[in-house]
Amino acid sequence: MGLPTDATTPEAVGDAANAERVEEVLDRLRESGGRATTSRRILLTALFEEGPHHTAEELAIEVQRVAPDVHLSTIYRNLDELERLGVVVHAHLGHGPATYHLASETHGHLVCEFCDAAVEAPEDFFAELMDAASKRYNFTIDPRHFAVLGRCAACAQASLETPTN
Ligand SMILES: [Zn+2]
Ligand SMILES: [Zn+2]
Ligand SMILES: [Zn+2]
Repeated sequence: MGLPTDATTPEAVGDAANAERVEEVLDRLRESGGRATTSRRILLTALFEEGPHHTAEELAIEVQRVAPDVHLSTIYRNLDELERLGVVVHAHLGHGPATYHLASETHGHLVCEFCDAAVEAPEDFFAELMDAASKRYNFTIDPRHFAVLGRCAACAQASLETPTN
């Protein structure tokens, strides 16, 4: 057969690969002097499995499914600690609470003010703006921290189709 020997189905990659990545992060955590507690392991698993853009409260619900005695305040403390250790970063996508990303999976965001749809844009997408801010104002933009707000294609289309008079 023409398939490479290391071919894996997407399903096979799923949980086992996530578990491995969680262990890698926990190793890094220990190396930087952090403790790999059970609640942190569960929290990281939720971050890897649920994808980005989850608030602390949403992550708490996921963690509490497995460990009901982990309080929201512990989740906040753990997120702070993971952020300090460079494992996790937060982003503000709009008016709501911050959402959390693994530091290895960050990107910028274009968020629709009308329907909250988020487009993920790689950091190089912001390169010209970062360059201009640096040259003109000697200002260093962090494109991962705040979203650029506007109107998505679907909402722009809908506003054209809705007569205003
Ligand atoms: Zn994101
Ligand atoms: Zn912030
Ligand atoms: Zn929209």
